[in-house]
Amino acid sequence: MSDDYDYEALLKRAHESMPDIEVSGDERWAVPALDVIYEGRITVWKNFQEIVDSIRRDADHIQGHILRSLGSAGSIEGRRLILKSVIPKEKLKGKVDEYVSTFVICGECGKPDTHLVKDRRTSVVECMACGAKRPVKVKKGLQAKERRRMLLPGDEIDVMIQDVGRLGDGVAKVDKFVIYVPGVTKGAAVKIKIEKVTGTMAVGRVVQT
Ligand SMILES: [Zn+2]
Repeated sequence: MSDDYDYEALLKRAHESMPDIEVSGDERWAVPALDVIYEGRITVWKNFQEIVDSIRRDADHIQGHILRSLGSAGSIEGRRLILKSVIPKEKLKGKVDEYVSTFVICGECGKPDTHLVKDRRTSVVECMACGAKRPVKVKKGLQAKERRRMLLPGDEIDVMIQDVGRLGDGVAKVDKFVIYVPGVTKGAAVKIKIEKVTGTMAVGRVVQT
């Protein structure tokens, strides 16, 4: 028993006397931890701007990508991103990672020191560390799914009433759909159930306020 202990101690000392292995820049670089709180059915991403600063990309671009792939309404308020639905923190982190691997990380050296340049119709990630260029590849499946996003009767979604129509109904916009919601006021964030869909027009009923 004591032999085992001595061996462990020896091993530990051996490890301690070894020089620290140099980590390269990209391994040390990490997106800061997300600071997220929930207020009712609203997700408040408190340090959104901090993440944006660390990624060094346009806040609106990041916001757009994340909201679209989550299918959630939301807006930037100061340094925070307010999402009009409850999104688990892990899911948000996943979206950040997805954004970083798609729009930030160099395909050659793996470093985040890149910038986004428009090359005709496509975007290219150009590395300032090694000079490599790669086209941005947004996951095909995701893109197609987004384009085909359907709203179906029976769907329950969180919306923000952005306007009031001529007949007094609240109007919400989700992707290409205009949804009329009776009995709500402008600015209300409500959960609705879709009752009818005609083309890109829909009618919803409030199920929760
Ligand atoms: Zn590189």
